[in-house]
Amino acid sequence: RLEIRNIRRFFEGRAVVDDVSLTVLPGQVTCLLGPSGCGKSTTLRMIAGVEMQDEGEIYVDGKLICDTIFRVPPERREIGLMFQDFALFPHLSVGDNVAFGLKGGKDQKRARARELLDRVSLAQYIDDYPHQLSGGEQQRVALARALAPSPKIMLMDEPFSGLDNRLRDGIRDETLSLLKEEDTAVLLVTHEPEEAMRMADEIALMRDGRIVQQGAPYNVYTRPVDKAAVAFFSDVN
Ligand code: ATP
Ligand code: MG
Repeated sequence: RLEIRNIRRFFEGRAVVDDVSLTVLPGQVTCLLGPSGCGKSTTLRMIAGVEMQDEGEIYVDGKLICDTIFRVPPERREIGLMFQDFALFPHLSVGDNVAFGLKGGKDQKRARARELLDRVSLAQYIDDYPHQLSGGEQQRVALARALAPSPKIMLMDEPFSGLDNRLRDGIRDETLSLLKEEDTAVLLVTHEPEEAMRMADEIALMRDGRIVQQGAPYNVYTRPVDKAAVAFFSDVN
């Protein structure tokens, strides 16, 4: 369970993330949805711990991991990350990419990597290298790598945007079912209403650093909070 409370982040005197509060429950996907520049990635980076908020607190399972004084370093937050530009290591095999960062002995790590690769139907590539795989296959390897340590919380920043349409649907569904099975709390960032409608249990609509509306996808879509929200959703069909 991820909770962020009253997070603010200023750049050059401007609040790019402005009093954002959110709770993400295990087994649920919350979508942070909004136009380019509204502060989505900055929010995610603060939760990941690679950037620090100026105000507010972040909790994982009720435990404080970050406020303006106290700060658990990123590598100890047990938060999984999957970003669009989060590339695989080219010099490591597919299996070693998935095993990277896992604890335990060599055989144990390889077994876990094989298990995850099996889940994304790529176990046969365990000893190949990333450049031998297609873009979509590499994305699935990245998914296997993000899931391998069984993080309780997964942050995803436009993880499907580099994929062509047909591939994207399959990978989205696969990703969702894996995350649900593991009971992961997922915060997914996207600027595409269609992706949020498809993936989310809960949508948090963001604009100019603030969450302007929050609720189940159907409710947010059918009862938009204002004209700007109507316009933003109008490209869903
Ligand atoms: P996109 O959908 O385009 O990825 P976003 O919602 O993820 O957009 P952010 O990357 O969070 O947006 O950026 C929010 C705002 O903060 C933007 O106006 C951006 O220019 C500004 N910003 C982000 N990082 C910095 C920084 N390090 N220094 C100054 N301004 C920044
Ligand atoms: Mg972004």
